[in-house]
Amino acid sequence: MSRPPIFLESWKLEAEDGGTVDVHGDAHRLTFHRSSSGRILDRIAELARRTGTVVVPGDGPAVLTAETHRKHRLAGFRTGAIPPPPRALTGQAIQVTVFPQPEPRRRPPLPRFPYHPNPVATGSVTPSDEPCACCGQERGWLYTGPVYAADAPATGICPYCVALGTAADRYDACFADTVEGDVPQEVVTAILRRTPGFTAWQSPYWLTHCGDGAAFLGPAGTKELTAYPDAVDHLRRQCAAWKWPPGQVEEFLGSLDKDGGPTAYLFRCRVCETHLAYADFT
Ligand SMILES: [Zn+2]
Ligand SMILES: [Zn+2]
Repeated sequence: MSRPPIFLESWKLEAEDGGTVDVHGDAHRLTFHRSSSGRILDRIAELARRTGTVVVPGDGPAVLTAETHRKHRLAGFRTGAIPPPPRALTGQAIQVTVFPQPEPRRRPPLPRFPYHPNPVATGSVTPSDEPCACCGQERGWLYTGPVYAADAPATGICPYCVALGTAADRYDACFADTVEGDVPQEVVTAILRRTPGFTAWQSPYWLTHCGDGAAFLGPAGTKELTAYPDAVDHLRRQCAAWKWPPGQVEEFLGSLDKDGGPTAYLFRCRVCETHLAYADFT
């Protein structure tokens, strides 16, 4: 039996957002060229779903609307094919096929900071493709907290130069201002010179407990502190020591804001795991 005649047609589609595509097709196959991204891909997907045809991007892999198409029509396609079920053939599916995004860069693991276990979560280390001001290497991360040094570099230091003490030695720098309490000198050195610091409204200091430096967990407001009643008690005792009347203490504890002062700074003891905090006093 001879093949049925093929009636090729060609037309331009336009979507609400102004995107266009040139479509060529017959009863079995649609090919689109010079497609915009955006809403036009939804139109193409809808057309393919309704007609049960195969969608073949001009230069990319085929998007097939059914497994049977895959069997019957794969020959002649230049590249691999993706057969989503018809209901899954959406503009987004075509977008992924035709306009693939580059893989997000994989960044190396951070050094371990015992006194600041997650400096990305606290905002003190951020992903960056810029080279480190100290070692000159692109490490994928830069430290964004304070640097206390006479000649602090204007641009970022990588967290590896913080962890190894390279930046502290080179610039005679510290990354925190004060360690509060009585702990061995090597703990003070580790916190001030080999640990990412954090930005505070007032001069930041590091809390200690059980003879060791505490782990900094991040800035916190009244809402975040509800999960840490031990830290709120700790704050309340500090306010009492300032001889504030109880009403003023509670008002102050209810006014703390993670993003705008006064802010609390949350720590956890590395020995007994008690949560501790101090706050900017306005
Ligand atoms: Zn570096
Ligand atoms: Zn403790």
